[in-house]
Amino acid sequence: MKDCIFCKIIAGEIPSAKAYEDDDILIIADINPQAARHYLMMPKKHYSDITDMGAADPAALGKMFEKLASLTDKLGLGNGFRIVSNKGEDGCQSVNHLHIHILGGEKLSEKMG
Ligand code: 5GP
Ligand code: ZN
Repeated sequence: MKDCIFCKIIAGEIPSAKAYEDDDILIIADINPQAARHYLMMPKKHYSDITDMGAADPAALGKMFEKLASLTDKLGLGNGFRIVSNKGEDGCQSVNHLHIHILGGEKLSEKMG
């Protein structure tokens, strides 16, 4: 999608630190990490947020999590992790291309909000 920063990263027009890529999914390091390991997992197809993709293609959304389950050791998340997906204004979503934050690599705060 035009003017979408993550579509530009997926297209290779903006550089990123890629941790995993296949035909459907890209996982990159967040440019402003909030944990020792902070990844962004996103579908290559543009969806505005998690409910947009969940409504349109729940099977593909599920496949992303299936893939994540097979990658945790490779990503340095074998001791656990947290996933977050911000949606909309109250969720403080700042990039309107669905992405799932994956945080770990250290003991995280018990607070989430
Ligand atoms: P949101 O606030 O939408 O949940 O999360 C957007 C995330 O994207 C933020 O954590 C921010 O640091 C990250 N981000 C924004 N622009 C870029 C970029 O150009 N490259 C990478 N790797 N991350 C980005
Ligand atoms: Zn996009």
